[in-house]
Amino acid sequence: MKRTKITDLFNPELIGKEVCVMGWVRTRRGNKHVQFIALNDGSTVKNVQIVFDMAQFTDDQLKPITTGSSIKVDGVLVESMGKGQSVEVQAKSLEIFGTADPESYPLQKKGHTLEFLREKAHLRPRTNTFGAILRVRSALAFAIHKFFQERGFFYLNTPLITGSDCEGAGAMFQVTTLDLNNLPKCEDGKVDYSADFFGKPTALTVSGQLEGELGATALGAIYTFGPTFRAENSNTPRHLSEFWMIEPEVAFFDIADNMDLAEDFIKYCIAYALDHCKDDIDFLAEHYDPELVERLKFVLDNEFVRLTYTEGVKILEESGHKFEFPVYWGADLQSEHERFLVEEHFKKPVILTDYPKEIKAFYMKLNEDGKTVRAMDVLFPKIGEIIGGSEREENYDKLSKRIEELDIPMKDMWWYLDTRRFGTVPHAGFGLGFERLVLFVTGMTNIRDVIPFPRTPNNAEF
Ligand code: ATP
Ligand code: MN
Repeated sequence: MKRTKITDLFNPELIGKEVCVMGWVRTRRGNKHVQFIALNDGSTVKNVQIVFDMAQFTDDQLKPITTGSSIKVDGVLVESMGKGQSVEVQAKSLEIFGTADPESYPLQKKGHTLEFLREKAHLRPRTNTFGAILRVRSALAFAIHKFFQERGFFYLNTPLITGSDCEGAGAMFQVTTLDLNNLPKCEDGKVDYSADFFGKPTALTVSGQLEGELGATALGAIYTFGPTFRAENSNTPRHLSEFWMIEPEVAFFDIADNMDLAEDFIKYCIAYALDHCKDDIDFLAEHYDPELVERLKFVLDNEFVRLTYTEGVKILEESGHKFEFPVYWGADLQSEHERFLVEEHFKKPVILTDYPKEIKAFYMKLNEDGKTVRAMDVLFPKIGEIIGGSEREENYDKLSKRIEELDIPMKDMWWYLDTRRFGTVPHAGFGLGFERLVLFVTGMTNIRDVIPFPRTPNNAEF
């Protein structure tokens, strides 16, 4: 008999019909007359109850079935009398795929801490919590492609291994096949990279943006969606060493177009999750974050506040609030500052623009004041920065001057400057950290809990 996924069982048309279900046992309880198994197959956060009439089964048949075991059951789907479930399966036959020794299976009881589950990241997808998070994550990934594809953006794959050390977004992981215990040296004592795999130093990418600009200035509008690596030693609940980033880049866009796109995009993703992941979001709200649904709807229903960095800093300075890090014009804003603007002052998502050029990347378009650049950061409640973007400097001379001022090693970057030499156009784009979006939508508070296998300093297990 063909298997029915548990998510498809909650269908009135199936009542009274024979079904076959397979999954992992969450709990088994009962007495010598009747036994109940709560079964989950990962297709939904809901378990289905399997009822065993012990006149038809022996104790010995059911005894090996402990939490974590995998089974197959054929039976009849009936309306359930018990509270908390609408249907149940009355078992006719049972097959055990695999048992799970209760002495060693770590997910015995409900209510493990998230910290404990991080150490069991190989099994945590089997918990309700991580099942819900991973399904939401998957839905959001689909929503992202859908949003851009429906608007005529092309999906561009940018390289993960890069030969340029000026992407500018963070510290890089070096990629090498050299024997670190026996490095080839040049006459001056430095490592001879001509002997390395690519004949020069290479690293994992920190951003696909520069190549994204090549795509946008040819195809018009592109987006990337891929892994990104940052060797920052920042042990925060919002930073990973390996994370996924979405980077749209659009020709003929200015910063206002870019802000509109960012706001539409993020609202679309949140609305998609609310529409398609209701059970999972409700589960997460119930167990972790009672205000979750309200917060998500609030973002959908409100226009993001747009103001300049200069105005934002003024508000922070005049707030009288004691911050851990000082705030003044020219300071890079910390998460506490960003969250104050969003959570305390405006009580809405905020897009902050026109940052001092010193604290932003070299490729951002210089404003007429000569001091600020057309950067835009989208700031969210509980998260702080969720998106960072800008209008790009399209003027060859201005860009070259900036590169010289900052002493950026551009020898490997001639191809980037070619976009400004040949048919340059105004263009803009941004980067959304996928895990920060998943954090926001699931109401989780630690980024390690929204990616299946987190990589952070001193942690690359699984
Ligand atoms: P932050 O100030 O939070 O470190 P950033 O300024 O380094 O962020 P960008 O370089 O603009 O961030 O990257 C674009 C987006 O990527 C950010 O808005 C954020 O959503 C995400 N992001 C950046 N660094 C990380 C990280 N280490 N882990 C997860 N997401 C990240
Ligand atoms: Mn950073």
